[in-house]
Amino acid sequence: MITTIGFDADDTLWQNEAYFRLTQDRFADLLAPYAAPDHLHDRLLAAERRNIGAYGFGVKGFTLSMIETAIEVTEGRVPAAVISELLGAGRAMLDHPVELIDGAQATVAALAGAFRLVLVTKGDLLHQERKLAQSGLGDLFDAVEIVSDKTAETYARVFARHGSGPAQALMVGNSLKSDVLPPIEAGGFGVYVPHGLTWALEAADEPVGHPRYARLDSLTGLPGHLAALAG
Ligand SMILES: [Mg+2]
Repeated sequence: MITTIGFDADDTLWQNEAYFRLTQDRFADLLAPYAAPDHLHDRLLAAERRNIGAYGFGVKGFTLSMIETAIEVTEGRVPAAVISELLGAGRAMLDHPVELIDGAQATVAALAGAFRLVLVTKGDLLHQERKLAQSGLGDLFDAVEIVSDKTAETYARVFARHGSGPAQALMVGNSLKSDVLPPIEAGGFGVYVPHGLTWALEAADEPVGHPRYARLDSLTGLPGHLAALAG
């Protein structure tokens, strides 16, 4: 019997990756005089990948990776005005209003009370706290965990602390790598709700056929899926 549901936040409850893509476009425009767009994108992704361990996930680390890449591709010649524009683009991402995904509010509201609901998200602590406050969803959750990474150990700990253990918990999110595979590895259930835009570093293979795995087209299918699991 499932007692506890974990929700991812970015691109599960509210939009996120779309703002990163817009900022990447701005980054490419600003650096266009120095390097080809594809090359820039690859260099930026490589910087993000090597910096995650030091900066963690989120906008602030992304901003530092943009600046690092700008310095690299210009061999140190990037004007301070461009660095200033990149800092402004990062700051604009932090200040962007929260835009809920269709059906998110209704789904969380429908499940609150019947299950223990836990928001499990990674990223910048302050930024995620602000987004949760702006979302209006905060009161529907029994607990909020803003974590540095999402591993099987993370989910085992979170669902032991806030629920009755991973075996009676289900996690839902848009990232197979972070929201679906690790909770299944921990002994729980994983539900994948794809978002049209997902960061390249979150890609992983679907565990097709796994008895504790499901894929839903929309979060609004979650109450029905839970009823099917219970029945
Ligand atoms: Mg997400």
